[in-house]
Amino acid sequence: MSDFQMYHALGADQLQDPNKSQQAYGGSQSRPPIAPGPAGYQQTGGFPTAAQSNPLQQGAYGTSSPPGYQHDDSQYSQQQPLGQQDSMAGLTAQMGGMAVGGHDTIKHKKRDRHAYHDIQSATGSSQAFNGMPQAGMGAPSDFLNQQQSQPGSQFPVPVGPTYQGSQFAGPVDNTPKGTQVTSSQGRVDPEQIPSIPRSRDGPAQFYLDHVFPTMENQIPPPAAIPFVAFDQGNSSPKFARLTMTHLPSSSESLHSVGLPLGLILQPLAPLQEGEREVPVLDFGEAGPPRCRRCRAYINPFMPFRSGGNKFICNMCTFPNDVAPEYFSPTDPSGVRVDRLQRPELTLGTVEYKVPKEYWTREPVPLRWLFLIDVTEESVNKGFLDGFCDGIMNALYGGTKEENDEQQNGRGQAKIPPGSKVGIVTYDKQMHFYNLNPSLDQAQMMVMPDLEDPFVPLSEGLFVDPEESQVVISSLLNQLPKMFAPDIHTGLKNPEPALLPALLAAHSALASTGGKIICSLGALPTWGPGRLFLRDDTKVTAGTDGEKKLLTTEHAGFTKLATKLVESGVGIDFFLAAPSGGYLDIATIGYVSSKTGGETYYYPNFHAPRDTLRLSKEINHTVTRETGYQALMKVRCSNGLQVSAYHGNFYHHTFGADLEFGVIDADKAIGVTFSYDGKLDPKLDAHFQSALLYTTPSGERRVRCHNLVASVAETGGEAMKYVDQDAVVAIMAKEAASRIPDRSVKDVRSFITEKTVDILAGYRKNFSASHPTGQLVIPENLKEFSMYMLSLIKSRAFKGGREPTDRRIHDIRLLKAMGCLELSLYLYPRIISIHNLNELDGFANENGHLRMPSTIRATFGKIEEGGAYIVDNGQMCLLWLHSAVSPNLLEDLFGPSNASLKALDPFTSQLPVLDTHLNAQVRNILQYLSESRGSKAMTLQIARQGLDGAEYEFARLLFEDRNNEAQSYVDWLVHLHRHIQMEVYRSSSNFGMFPFTNVFVVGRSKKEGRWGRRSGKYARRP
Ligand SMILES: [Zn+2]
Repeated sequence: MSDFQMYHALGADQLQDPNKSQQAYGGSQSRPPIAPGPAGYQQTGGFPTAAQSNPLQQGAYGTSSPPGYQHDDSQYSQQQPLGQQDSMAGLTAQMGGMAVGGHDTIKHKKRDRHAYHDIQSATGSSQAFNGMPQAGMGAPSDFLNQQQSQPGSQFPVPVGPTYQGSQFAGPVDNTPKGTQVTSSQGRVDPEQIPSIPRSRDGPAQFYLDHVFPTMENQIPPPAAIPFVAFDQGNSSPKFARLTMTHLPSSSESLHSVGLPLGLILQPLAPLQEGEREVPVLDFGEAGPPRCRRCRAYINPFMPFRSGGNKFICNMCTFPNDVAPEYFSPTDPSGVRVDRLQRPELTLGTVEYKVPKEYWTREPVPLRWLFLIDVTEESVNKGFLDGFCDGIMNALYGGTKEENDEQQNGRGQAKIPPGSKVGIVTYDKQMHFYNLNPSLDQAQMMVMPDLEDPFVPLSEGLFVDPEESQVVISSLLNQLPKMFAPDIHTGLKNPEPALLPALLAAHSALASTGGKIICSLGALPTWGPGRLFLRDDTKVTAGTDGEKKLLTTEHAGFTKLATKLVESGVGIDFFLAAPSGGYLDIATIGYVSSKTGGETYYYPNFHAPRDTLRLSKEINHTVTRETGYQALMKVRCSNGLQVSAYHGNFYHHTFGADLEFGVIDADKAIGVTFSYDGKLDPKLDAHFQSALLYTTPSGERRVRCHNLVASVAETGGEAMKYVDQDAVVAIMAKEAASRIPDRSVKDVRSFITEKTVDILAGYRKNFSASHPTGQLVIPENLKEFSMYMLSLIKSRAFKGGREPTDRRIHDIRLLKAMGCLELSLYLYPRIISIHNLNELDGFANENGHLRMPSTIRATFGKIEEGGAYIVDNGQMCLLWLHSAVSPNLLEDLFGPSNASLKALDPFTSQLPVLDTHLNAQVRNILQYLSESRGSKAMTLQIARQGLDGAEYEFARLLFEDRNNEAQSYVDWLVHLHRHIQMEVYRSSSNFGMFPFTNVFVVGRSKKEGRWGRRSGKYARRP
């Protein structure tokens, strides 16, 4: 921080040694040490690098690697052989045209996340984009402060000219795969453009043995990788990420940067092993100390004055009196003497138990209501069976059958103690169940009144799942049979009456709040609030007709959403379209999105394949951290104000608190800020989010996240501290919020224009000394363009036809996702498993799983005979090339599976075998399953030329030309051209016009269509 000294004065320095503070709080002993000095990076030394171990990797299954492939992957290993560096230097020398980084005034210092890419100034010149000679590479930014640049920093010192793995340029001659740029004068080597896999793999290695300290001026690790954060007063990036940790001082300065000033908040984000749990503090009846004027909660950045009698609010600067019971004297430096015993004065994230004045009613433990569709389609396609199985697994672990066998013994319920469970089924009627533990079996009560449904029983609807395990297990086991068509002879109910069932569920929970988990297996066409098949294949993308399909005007469902939020109730839907049919997710999912819930969608539900996923996802939804009846408020310091919120919540009026019926660990919101004055670079800017909610065990609490950001003197300074994941997430949420007011096509233009804005702003304002023909990309936004291309290609926004159910589902998903899930959604992790190193997939000497490198999402990286795991956090494909080795298949799936045709296409997990490969891959999948978002990890087989899932595989290769949009290389060329136009437009010197003829043609042709300044998305300061 620019005035880090100030926090030293506050005592923040005492927190810089995590081990020290660990003692102070008796924190977890398992936390690895922070930046452990010179030996810190030696851990990989015990193992051969990918390059060195090629012999091991090669051809276990007789596959041939194209020359250069392994070589490429090893480029970013730390133990780079010198010879390789030389060859890379040669390559670098030929690069031209594009350059990454490049803030001219930045001093060459050690860096953090990119430090394993050694830095080199390119010295040669070449003919990439328009033949302009390349100047020096942008020197790296110094985003580590003194702590990290001490001697003995963890990175090996680069010696001599070395390769920067992330450099962005295009050698001309040795690029057989290089895509030709519109200008015939240059080519871009796809190998050299910024690589998302590379941007993840290196840091992932690094953070295995390093903690991320939150107050040391480092840019947070990439969201997609696991890391342990150490809270030093600033909240962990898992909870809160700012787009810039050094803010521009004014709105003009922000404008020059082109970036949104935003904050991504994931208030209940899961923590990982080694991270300290959020402390829960109890200030009794008085409640947590707060600013009298702006109501901000006490936090580490509020200084105490007058010997400890006053605290100054860091949001509004109001001097508050310290209540007598909270008084503590200060030491001569002004720090409270009890500071280290006070988590609220030392940690960025704390939770307060709050007294009655924060209640809207007596909080009770969470009530879960399972609302189960028992209509024909649901029963016949195995969805009901799978759903009941999933509930059983979520409540008790194990399947129905297993639980039936041990009916007499009570199992351990998995949901938090105190929570209660109820079950209601519905078709054309509703069926309530008395689950009282004293009964032999559940009693069903039918509610046929759809117009005015009420809850027909007052006792036994919600029960303790442990006490009633026998009754519940038996009911869940019976349900699929009870509603099987042969029993209901002649009384098949194909049509679910969803809205009346939801209204009844609401009345069951209206007095307490709670969470509804609702299954639906067909379009609800019965009773009040019935929906129609309104998806019209004739509706073309981008028209008003499509906009209508992406929203709902159904008064019944919109009113229901409002009522649910008011009562503190939220819904997670499990929607299956067994025959691929239309469900009107725009209308149904509206209710879950407004109430803070989630929609799990199984577009072509197929029982054998999808039951495992269904079961895991029900389990996840029940066991993840959940709160209900929640309100959220975001505060920021003077000079800034909230300008917009993006996410799934209910918002009465702007300025009011955000309301959530329920909120869970996977949900994130985006907040953007604007300036209402100029920020003083001598002071810091502060942000605080406060989430008031009821825990599943029935405690009313406030979870507080605090962030501090320096104020940069210049926009260029701010650009050095950009958090790419936060920028990507703000962009994605903002884009998603534009639907349905804007068409999908408009949103794609918005994304493109915003991307050009950001890069052009940087080009104009901060890298003017680079030759005008170069595409210069800010160091910390290297992969940003690729993420934006993926966003354009995502189901949410892609061109061409896309079923509206899938589109709107993904749009809402984007609004709800946290940074980790979004990063994976926009760029999958692809791991080749046919050439794993022998040691991959097993623990290294420090007990960390050794993960193979991931590869770029392009078919160019797919090898003949290869086998790949492709995981985008939503689904995980196992793609098998048609010429895959029979040995590999046998090792993976067992002896009877030596050919692709022999494989069961509906398998959803690997068998447990005692082959090396099988163990490796299962371990890798386990690792992937532990760092993802809301969706469960199951395998889907995609055999080349055999399975429909191959289409998904092709779709996820985002670097290729697909999803109605160009390839990554062409996209960069496209961006470059428009950036040049931008830069040219703003330059007054026509004589300096830098473009080749090709570009001039491009400009005049495109200008009208582009129309940036006058267009809809012209920037409004
Ligand atoms: Zn205040």
